Amino acid sequence: MSVPTISISKQELLKLGLKKNESVHYQSTPEELLKDTLRIGEGILTNTGALSINTGEFTGRCPNDKFTVKDEITADTVHWNNFNIPIEEKYFHIIHKKIMDYLGGKPEIWVRDCYACADPRYRLSIRIITEKPWTNLFAYNMFLRPDEEELDEFKPDWHVICAPGLRLDAKECGTRQHNAAVISFKHKTILIAGSGYTGETKKGIFTILNYILPYEKDVLNMHCSANVGEGGDTAIFFGLSGTGKTTLSADANRKLIGDDEHGWTDDGVFNFEGGCYAKLINLSEEKEPEIYQAIRRGALVENVKFFEGTNKINFDDGSITENTRVSYPLDFISNALQPSIGGTPKNIFFLTCDAYGVLPPIARLTKRQAMYQYVSGYTAKVAGTEAGVTEPKPTFSACFGAPFLPLHPGFYAEMLGKKMEEHNVNVWLINTGWTGGPYGKGHRIKLSFTRAMISAALDGKLNNVETTVDPVFRFAVPSEVPGVPKEILIPRNTWTDKEAYDEKARYLAGLFVSNFEKYASGASAETMAAAPKV
Ligand code: ATP
Ligand code: MN
Repeated sequence: MSVPTISISKQELLKLGLKKNESVHYQSTPEELLKDTLRIGEGILTNTGALSINTGEFTGRCPNDKFTVKDEITADTVHWNNFNIPIEEKYFHIIHKKIMDYLGGKPEIWVRDCYACADPRYRLSIRIITEKPWTNLFAYNMFLRPDEEELDEFKPDWHVICAPGLRLDAKECGTRQHNAAVISFKHKTILIAGSGYTGETKKGIFTILNYILPYEKDVLNMHCSANVGEGGDTAIFFGLSGTGKTTLSADANRKLIGDDEHGWTDDGVFNFEGGCYAKLINLSEEKEPEIYQAIRRGALVENVKFFEGTNKINFDDGSITENTRVSYPLDFISNALQPSIGGTPKNIFFLTCDAYGVLPPIARLTKRQAMYQYVSGYTAKVAGTEAGVTEPKPTFSACFGAPFLPLHPGFYAEMLGKKMEEHNVNVWLINTGWTGGPYGKGHRIKLSFTRAMISAALDGKLNNVETTVDPVFRFAVPSEVPGVPKEILIPRNTWTDKEAYDEKARYLAGLFVSNFEKYASGASAETMAAAPKV
């Protein structure tokens, strides 16, 4: 018996305007996509069996080239700012035509039908059309995979069309330069031209869900990871890029719900995605065994270098980018929860990577302080890897995800506030960044210590310990955490120069206060009262 080939009807292709292609690969398996990538000479098979590719000119997202069509749906609902940049509908049509003509002229393209949102009540059907087989493999890894029955009845709600090889004429297309990601809520389409960075597709879908779910379905969207303990207690970890969402949610003792994007409904949380997108820089098997073992056949590795003369990844080499990544389906993590739906969160962690070395490694927040931190969305990263760069770069990103939020941050903050009130959630601030001094003097806190602090909080071991109030930020800092040296809990104690610490703490407090000014009019007096003391 021959195996039936899954195909997409001519009619469907005509609707897409893709009649010219000789070969449209529909719903290819990961194995086929791996082989297609090698056949067109764009990948290397690593020694672990994972496929390695280079994303080209862009190795990260381009927030300045992400546009939202300003039309009757979005004009008065989207919060227009640096991340929600308006573009006229006529340009959407021009770019759409350019992309379709470009893809129509290719000898082969790849089409995939997939879903977002693990909770069937909120499912979004996505059809993704890609110039490259590896972008299609990324979509297979990262979104939810319909079974054959679901495929029979599949009707796409949204389209994502990716043409990394197409360079746009900025003037003709109304864009900033030759690349763009354009979202149209009216045409339910995301166009990506000129960039091969796979994360654009993932964060494009995240962005539209961050509009649809809270605005139309009363579900709170969150830029967080999530896992669940043996007793069924859900924990969520909010944080900006590089703060530890993926790393800290991969915990051998807890089941993984998801590593980056979730919704909070009336009865629990669900993952938007079907996979993980983990960083590879300085990865070690010993410290991050779950992620390490996921780099195998089926996984897609991006922008890494190899040890000379081998196909063995050198995880310490960031010469293409520090943002080296791997995507893999959730079930590559042995303890992933299926389906990825958990109960109402019992603990919320706000992760920050404070390269100033000022914030404590763990603190308990009151509801007001939690709201203040959520609206602030603070992290400070190391400015770069160039020689001589010693000053951390502070970032305040509302709700720990401003680049992906189409609505006003206040809309999301209010939803979170209500949920925290209603469910009496414990909220913790975790500094996964510097200790013993700022970047250049101190060092990043040991991952094993951060893990121990999170475990202690989850196990209820911090509920009755003595705490000290941070003199500037005023949250309660536990004086004892099992498995963690006492002296590192109060950051001031880890600095040799105490005056330098006090000065930096005041400086950081000042940054919080001036950042918050733009929200002052919309924030409650109680939230305002949770501001640090300058
Ligand atoms: P993104 O939103 O970009 O996916 P993320 O929040 O998922 O970012 P991770 O991928 O978890 O961030 O990155 C955290 C990085 O910091 C990892 O490379 C991890 O190895 C490293 N790291 C070092 N020390 C710590 C620590 N104490 N806690 C957490 N992560 C740490
Ligand atoms: Mn992550």
